[in-house]
Amino acid sequence: MAGKNEEVLVEAFMTKRSQNKRTFTHTNWKERWFVLSPKNLIYYDGDKQSGRRKERGRVELIRVVAVESVDTAVFQRDFVFQLCYLSEDDDQYVLYIAAPTAQDREQWLDYIRKLVADNDCLSDKYHQGAFIKSQWSCCKGGKNTIACTDVTWTINHNNNPPGHPTPSPTPPNGLPSDMNPAPKIVVALYDYNATERGDLSLRKNEEFEVLEQDQEHWWKMRNRQTGMEGFAPSNYVRELGTPDIQQYDWYLGDATRQRAEVFLMQQEREGCFVVRNSTTNSGVYTLSVYTKQSHPQVKHYHIKKDPEGNYYLSQNIKCKTIPELIYRHQHNPGGICARLRPPTLGRTAPATAGLSHDKWEIDPSELNLLEELGSGQFGVVRHGKLKSLDVAVKMMKEGTMSEDEFIEEAKVMTKLRHGNLVQLYGVCSRQRPIYIVTEYLRYGSLLQYLRNKERILLNNTDVLLDMCLQVCSGMAYLEKQKFIHRDLAARNCLVGAHNEIKVGDFGLARYVVDDEYTGSGGAKFPIKWAAPEVLNFMRFSSKSDVWAFGVLMWEVFTCGKMPYGRMKNAEVVDMVQHGRVLEKPRFCPSDVYNVMQQCWNANAENRPSFNEILRMFQDE
Ligand code: AMP
Repeated sequence: MAGKNEEVLVEAFMTKRSQNKRTFTHTNWKERWFVLSPKNLIYYDGDKQSGRRKERGRVELIRVVAVESVDTAVFQRDFVFQLCYLSEDDDQYVLYIAAPTAQDREQWLDYIRKLVADNDCLSDKYHQGAFIKSQWSCCKGGKNTIACTDVTWTINHNNNPPGHPTPSPTPPNGLPSDMNPAPKIVVALYDYNATERGDLSLRKNEEFEVLEQDQEHWWKMRNRQTGMEGFAPSNYVRELGTPDIQQYDWYLGDATRQRAEVFLMQQEREGCFVVRNSTTNSGVYTLSVYTKQSHPQVKHYHIKKDPEGNYYLSQNIKCKTIPELIYRHQHNPGGICARLRPPTLGRTAPATAGLSHDKWEIDPSELNLLEELGSGQFGVVRHGKLKSLDVAVKMMKEGTMSEDEFIEEAKVMTKLRHGNLVQLYGVCSRQRPIYIVTEYLRYGSLLQYLRNKERILLNNTDVLLDMCLQVCSGMAYLEKQKFIHRDLAARNCLVGAHNEIKVGDFGLARYVVDDEYTGSGGAKFPIKWAAPEVLNFMRFSSKSDVWAFGVLMWEVFTCGKMPYGRMKNAEVVDMVQHGRVLEKPRFCPSDVYNVMQQCWNANAENRPSFNEILRMFQDE
């Protein structure tokens, strides 16, 4: 045993995949006590303290062929690494071990590599995947297919003498302290196709080392398998070790309860479910499940945690991770309303902040202009393609805006990024008319959408409230960034392919040069959305946006009626200045109308913030 005759270099608990099972299930990983000596990697069951450890197996380091990490996707488990080694009769085996953190994995890899660096049998290739269901998951080859991927490390013979590294004082985690801080490792959540020089493409589940994080939305990364480097969108990756539920299509992140309900009601499948972050407790998750029992409805369950850290929905099924818990409930309702079935609609990749890490000027020759989508305040809007990306192109009527100032501002605006804001990709500013290129939303203007779908929507208050809360989320983000919209209204919001609502045209109002639009006396000024302090003093703030949001809620709950009907602007101003507000729409619940009234508080200070409005509806 290592304890008696062998020097212990490093030891720790890690989990190991059983080597004798052919099929993979989530149960064949066992916790073991691993001990690395200069000559062997040995694993035991039992714990260190009791001293009653029983050796379960060992790998002689001189027989090691490769030491590499394993793709997260292979076992849907983080921090896995592999030791390929030769048995006595020269058969190759692989030991898969999951370390507790990214840092631990890097350090074990590093340490073992130092010990095996001079092995004659070292291979320069390995299988990045695993042998599952009779084939290698990486190259789809059979049992005897030669390894497909180049090893990721260069052997440095100047390190400690092989077989005898200098043991250094052991830090609390049981690992040697002479290693550099472990790099930040991230996993791609979506595919990303780089279009510009200096950018890096991502494939879902590939691992990357983060090299620079100076820009919030674009990080410089290195692909751990190919070594390629470049910038990629930071919202397309998750850090290894952050809750791995992010990789599942059933995870909706910060979606509200209403969003989850609308999504599941559209799917209409018994047991269809999503998991989302609890809106009231951070770090807690909620499961929302569609069921037709008694009547079509969505039920919500808090995913609870027992003192041992196990997740559960009912006492009879408890699991170490949420994906495992979901997996169990997919096979057995186990006390909840239905056996779980994942949604069939895949998640769409979010928009990136701008098109590239440093590109906001777009060459018009790269744009393929398609059909006209409509025309508005600034001119015609056309659908277009920028390489394979769908975009909307606003062709700014000359003389409608102060272009130079806007172009400066556009650089800032490309960096605003939120799932409920229309993403600005860039501008074509070296020509006239200038083009503003944004994300394309399939169903166009929210106002038109409400009017077209009035018959289905009018008394569907959950869907209508969901729309308002989506707008509110986008606005809460702008409020946090201290960015004032100045023209929030249903006509300036758009509807996407999955009925997501996004706020558009934020900040543009500042660059309009038309007097009819900019002065509160002008015929085009959006008086019906304007707060009293805007009417009186042109004083814009996030709180004047909140007033406009109240009017937008009213538009939503009337399915696109004109606020104050046919009243003339002067009459509206008079009404607002006398403290009279819009009436409750017929199908609007009184708690929702109550929020509108709070938005229309004459005193801007007393209006709730967007963030406070969101919290008013967080009633799980
Ligand atoms: P606007 O100039 O923003 O008022 O846009 C005029 C019309 O063009 C809108 O009412 C929409 O129907 C359409 N439109 C504008 N932007 C987009 C977009 N990003 N995606 C799809 N349609 C759009």
